[in-house]
Amino acid sequence: MIARLHDPHYDRWAAQIRRTGGCSQPIHLRGKVEHIDRATGALLHRYSTTSEPGGVLRVRCKTRRASRCPACAEIYRADTYQLIRAGLVGGKGVPATVAAHPTLFVTLTAPSFGAVHLRRENNGKTLPCHARRDAGSCPHGRVMSCTARHAADEACLGEPLCPECYDYTGSVLFNATSPELWRRFTLALRRRLAKSAGLTQWELREQVTVSFAKVAEYQRRGVVHFHAVIRLDGPDGPASPPPAWATADALADAVRHAASAVAVTAPAAEDEPARVLHWGAQLDIRPITIGGELTDQAVAGYIAKYATKAAECVGTLDRRVSPLDDLDALPLREHARRLIAECFRLGALDDLADLRLTQWAHMLGFRGHFSTKSRRYSTTLGQIREERAEHVRAEAVSTGRLPLFEEDTVLVITEWEYAGQGYSLGDALLAAALTGTPMPGPVDSAGGGA
Ligand SMILES: [Zn+2]
Ligand SMILES: [Zn+2]
Ligand SMILES: [Zn+2]
Repeated sequence: MIARLHDPHYDRWAAQIRRTGGCSQPIHLRGKVEHIDRATGALLHRYSTTSEPGGVLRVRCKTRRASRCPACAEIYRADTYQLIRAGLVGGKGVPATVAAHPTLFVTLTAPSFGAVHLRRENNGKTLPCHARRDAGSCPHGRVMSCTARHAADEACLGEPLCPECYDYTGSVLFNATSPELWRRFTLALRRRLAKSAGLTQWELREQVTVSFAKVAEYQRRGVVHFHAVIRLDGPDGPASPPPAWATADALADAVRHAASAVAVTAPAAEDEPARVLHWGAQLDIRPITIGGELTDQAVAGYIAKYATKAAECVGTLDRRVSPLDDLDALPLREHARRLIAECFRLGALDDLADLRLTQWAHMLGFRGHFSTKSRRYSTTLGQIREERAEHVRAEAVSTGRLPLFEEDTVLVITEWEYAGQGYSLGDALLAAALTGTPMPGPVDSAGGGA
């Protein structure tokens, strides 16, 4: 810390850090940008990191994971919010008339894999977890009842009443096959819509576009749920109105049908029989309406929040684990440890190799994307980021920090190379003070280049 403060390049270093906006693990880049006059070949402007402190430029890590970098995840969250909201009420190139299109907020759940401790509430009153007057004992001698009224932060939430009885195989296979289950759900949804309107699939495409944006949420028991905005547009996407028959009721019917109809089979492998995975019986379908019970802001906020989370609430690790790791030595919740061990056990079976369970053990088998959307939903994160970059560029030009070039006449050559990531402990403390962010935890990849 003292060495950094006395460094003659400290001011420039501090300016770099402020620009990363409190990123807790900035990426170090080495390279240059040259602006060259296309007609004459003259060098108009040159930036190189050789004159930067340590010879590197520190830029945001841009992760979506709040557990890794709160500052960058906050930007991701805000961008996702704008993206989702544009698909509900317009904006970002989507006309406001989209608000009148039938739109549902749908939650698809996982089935039960055994009784777990949970917090149940009714009208603000906490109810007993699993009160069963006539509860017998399981084959392992555990009474399958729990009369506790659990608090919201109790560690046992999501833990099975009997870990020996719990279907860890099913839980892991559900996570692993859920992206395919979702894909089949969207296909079945379109099929049902077409059928109920008396159309072929081809005719449906000429009348209706089904758009969606979805996010995965980990339950404390370690399985994913999907929350999705599903919207009906006309054939040209959000700018075109859907036909009169394509109502919210028709969409809800198609969602209900598709959710109950689809299944994915995990193949048999050695002693493991083939397993058929399907959605849980709990299905939540709610219309999104302006000024209604469920507003566009609430839905956009909800999806954006989950887009920055992963499996950390289950008590697993935020990084890959290997079958060579000693699971007992890692800071894991017992339930997460068993789920990870099950991923390793099934991942070693040849017939299940396609599920890549070993690589995704830290995610408890889920290897899908956390938030996805169909092409026509609204704008893209890339476009939102480009708008922001353009805004920053324009500001830099207007304040004289960047020269203004006619785009067509200038050739821009960029050359970047990765040179490390993160902070040394001293730099991390200084950066936290400079950007007003919380003091960092243990530093993972200390200091490359710093
Ligand atoms: Zn960051
Ligand atoms: Zn309980
Ligand atoms: Zn048992």
